[in-house]
Amino acid sequence: MSRFDNSSGGKSIMRLCRFGEGRLGVVRGAEVLDVTDALDDLPSYRYPLPSVDQVIANLGTLRPRIEAVAETAEAFPLSGISLLSPVANPGKIVAAPVNYKKHLEEARTDPEIHHQNQIAEIQKVGLFLKATSSLEGPSKGVEIRHPERRNDHEIELAVIISKAADRISAEEALDYVAGYAIGLDMTIRGPEERSLRKSLDTFTVLGPWLVTADEIPDPNAISLKLSVNGETRQDANTRDLVIGVADLIAYASSFYTLMPGDILLTGTPEGVGPVVPGDVINATIEHVGTMDVQVRAAQAR
Ligand code: MN
Repeated sequence: MSRFDNSSGGKSIMRLCRFGEGRLGVVRGAEVLDVTDALDDLPSYRYPLPSVDQVIANLGTLRPRIEAVAETAEAFPLSGISLLSPVANPGKIVAAPVNYKKHLEEARTDPEIHHQNQIAEIQKVGLFLKATSSLEGPSKGVEIRHPERRNDHEIELAVIISKAADRISAEEALDYVAGYAIGLDMTIRGPEERSLRKSLDTFTVLGPWLVTADEIPDPNAISLKLSVNGETRQDANTRDLVIGVADLIAYASSFYTLMPGDILLTGTPEGVGPVVPGDVINATIEHVGTMDVQVRAAQAR
């Protein structure tokens, strides 16, 4: 029997991960099938490299190869592997600020969050970019470089773009989605620009894997939950997004062409709060999965 038989009406839903030393995996239950050999089918490149993620850009042609390799692939227990970011080389990480009304209200109320910054609605502030160097998978953990400041967690539904999207409409936007993942948009509170406060190394956690878009027919109706050391901090649903997923993609594409592997963080709901070294964040998104992320002090140089 094929390892890809499932009850989804013939469409093979796939959970794609990266693990260990850059290996490619397919998640099946509590196991990961090592399908790294499928990467041999990627085109070879010479400098200058194209600035898109090559696995995501070629996923359409890679997918049958991944499924074929998976038939005889070595399986590892999920519990014993180190999960990396499921997207290795995004060209950009786009993020939506204050895209839940209750988070806007808490940000305006709490001086430790707003720091005398005017917190305007997303319709006024638009989007911001995070450095791609801030991206890590769940196994690496979040590193605290400025322990004297408030370092907050933000759970967000992350959208991974499948193909070039240039000024597309909301009606067609979901056709440009390769899949979804859990995103943590870690943040130092303070007066500086968002992109600085959110671009520290390890401050964008993506994981535990990418679920292909067919797994989530309506991204505007899924629950998100984040706890710290077992205490629930954020518990919400994407139905409360101010600007929904399709409209966000369309809006972003009206400013810049979204490319394969680009990551769109759709905004965090209410309940943001501080973490310190030693904390363990658990983040769960319905239809995607769950992941534990350790918070640790930055090593001295
Ligand atoms: Mn955020």
